[in-house]
Amino acid sequence: MRLSDAQIADVKARVDLGALARELGAGLRKSGRKLVGSCPVCGGGRSAQRFEVAGESWVCAVCQDGGDAIRLLQRATGCDFRAAVERLGGAREMSDAERAELEQRARERSEKREREAQRYRAREIAAVRRLWEGAARAPFEVVAAYLQWRRCLAPASAMLRFAPELCFFHGQAPDERGPMAPRVVHRGPAMLAAIVDNAGDFCGLHMTFLAPGGAGKAEIFDPETGEALIAKKCRGAVKGGHIVLRAVAAPRRLFIGEGIETVLSVATALKATRRLRGDDAFWSSVDLGNLGGAAAEAIDHPFLKHANGHRQRLPGPEPDRSARAIELPDSVEELVLLGDGDSERVLTETTLERARRRYERPGRVIRIACAPEGRDFNNVLTEG
Ligand SMILES: [Zn+2]
Repeated sequence: MRLSDAQIADVKARVDLGALARELGAGLRKSGRKLVGSCPVCGGGRSAQRFEVAGESWVCAVCQDGGDAIRLLQRATGCDFRAAVERLGGAREMSDAERAELEQRARERSEKREREAQRYRAREIAAVRRLWEGAARAPFEVVAAYLQWRRCLAPASAMLRFAPELCFFHGQAPDERGPMAPRVVHRGPAMLAAIVDNAGDFCGLHMTFLAPGGAGKAEIFDPETGEALIAKKCRGAVKGGHIVLRAVAAPRRLFIGEGIETVLSVATALKATRRLRGDDAFWSSVDLGNLGGAAAEAIDHPFLKHANGHRQRLPGPEPDRSARAIELPDSVEELVLLGDGDSERVLTETTLERARRRYERPGRVIRIACAPEGRDFNNVLTEG
């Protein structure tokens, strides 16, 4: 028997998605109206801040995936739709009138959520565009000092700017506007990078908080737990976006990797060894998930398990070609995919393989370059 939309909505309405995610191995904390933390499917890679639950839906930036409670169970355990519904308490028989009413309510809720999400997205992009437009192109000394500290240089066309005093928000605190508002835990200099969509339009902002004078990244701690926080943040529409670090009109060779510094290291090392070409472009994919785009399906991790004994799952090597992803210029004949040595190895390799399959086409050469563990591309390339 096929389940009606009303029956599915009824199953989901009975589930506490946050509790389910925790039961499946997620570590979550409250952040605004959402729960944020590690992903019960993939674990979440390095940062474990990329999994979010809001109301009846979840999203993971590493898996590049999301959906409802049924999909989460399917992705996390590998079971099929029917088994997931059963585990969530099973479908209930209902009268036509009850079904019609439930369907109507589910439709209204989903339309309302969609409208709210669109409004939020538009507000976010407008807010970060103001930050970007208000930021300095020059003087650029602190950003230059930071890049030098990382032993790389930024090409003149890199979409980078400098904010002398940017707020880092984390968690919430009471303030005069209401009982809970975003809490500022740090204020200081930051390197800003514009995230653009496939049309080249501004759609988000990547922020790297810097130590005074650019001597490394800022050290930022949660004032309550003392936990060290990652000194990078993204706002706006990140999915399918990229950061241009060297702009070329019709690039024939494109280097793309996750981190800004990784990609700039490669550009710097190529320049130092006189192998940089005029038609080389360099992009950052902002995060690892974006590098491979969404996967058609999740697979079992060969050896990693969650604390509860469930095997970790990770986005598989086959791309989901219907989902929004980074598109490459047609002119690209050679694509070099850069893997950081500091991410979880199986996740990185599978992501790069997914990117390879996504971007392969006749006449295009695709290379995968992974920095050996514990070393970066700057070491690798300058030492030969
Ligand atoms: Zn995930």
